[in-house]
Amino acid sequence: MNGALTEKRETMEKKIPLQVLESIFDTLSETNLRSGKSTSDKLANEIVVSGWTFPWQLEDLLLETDSRIHRMDIESLATYFDIPLRYVFHKPRFVNAGAVGHEGLSATDAACLLMKLEDIGFDTNPMPFVRGIAPGLANAKYVDESELSIISYEWQRHRCHTVIRSDADIDDGEWETKKVKDAVGRRFEFTRVGGKAYMLEVKGPKYRRQPNRRLVTCDYCDYRYTKGDPESNLAHRSEHARVRKILDPKPLPAFSRRLLTKPNPELVDASSPKWMHGEMYERACRFKRELKFDFIQWEGNQERKNISAQSQGYLFSDHTSPHMPETIVGACAFWKDADQWRLRWVWVCPKMRRKGVLAHRWRQFLERYGDFEIETPLSEEMRHFVLMHGSPQQCAAVQPPVPT
Ligand SMILES: [Zn+2]
Repeated sequence: MNGALTEKRETMEKKIPLQVLESIFDTLSETNLRSGKSTSDKLANEIVVSGWTFPWQLEDLLLETDSRIHRMDIESLATYFDIPLRYVFHKPRFVNAGAVGHEGLSATDAACLLMKLEDIGFDTNPMPFVRGIAPGLANAKYVDESELSIISYEWQRHRCHTVIRSDADIDDGEWETKKVKDAVGRRFEFTRVGGKAYMLEVKGPKYRRQPNRRLVTCDYCDYRYTKGDPESNLAHRSEHARVRKILDPKPLPAFSRRLLTKPNPELVDASSPKWMHGEMYERACRFKRELKFDFIQWEGNQERKNISAQSQGYLFSDHTSPHMPETIVGACAFWKDADQWRLRWVWVCPKMRRKGVLAHRWRQFLERYGDFEIETPLSEEMRHFVLMHGSPQQCAAVQPPVPT
């Protein structure tokens, strides 16, 4: 997504109908008689206040800044840019009254469409929308694509590189590319193949190639991000730090206090504090990722406890370190099905594997949960562990089936 902020290259699979691209070519080849003329923000402000607009209203708005727009089919362009048109109704005065609706766009989506039209060469004025909508997004935790366009508009303006391809059948025919620069400084390449509109490429006046930006996956935390993009780098750093706390854990003062004061300090159940449920959740995530399971097998997290009486978890302290037992080196979870307890999963951080973390606790688990079952499928490592440390019944359950 961050790549899309600076490189709004439409995917090569996505195509616009040939007649729409022909229309864009013809329209952009004309002179905008409104270029540089001052406009009133009255209509844009009305749209922001009402929250909605209709195609004919949007056309009036666009005609204030670009005389050529009457030749364009606004709805086709909205469809191409994945900007949704929805039925909008006058709010009825009576709940049982009928309502008449028309297709329209939200003010936010209308602003996004104006920005996309500006990127491909039309003169639009999205600023009244940005001024009206952006303050309301200041504290938003999540934003959709149109809202993202609004909050990044002032930085993003004129820096885009847009490529649009038509669905023309171009099996043969002569390629012909016309390069044009407009009054704003946009650089256009109109490409026709066999006389048909094939591709439009538009670079904003402030567009610069950013060769150092590339999509990479971090070997350590497995996070996929755009190297060289500040926002993406920041998101990666945050995820990297989160994963490091689990893969290379440090002593936790809260765990230390628990080890000193509680009779069964590693147990996580409904009576345990939320932070322990959060630590369980993080390790359940690592287990899911490593074993490629479809879902996370701990029904609690940092904000919400897992209060099921059928569910019990354990956070493993580092029993190998006499000075730092308050480091959480792994976790496991049990589930009670009818009267039978079952070990759902076990996860130990990589540097503590094969150091007896689970073996250290197995006897205690057998005493507490009886001859508990073990959820399959098992990793090969876990199967070997059970064959070495499990009860006779557990060993029999993990033996590969005898070929018949
Ligand atoms: Zn990383």
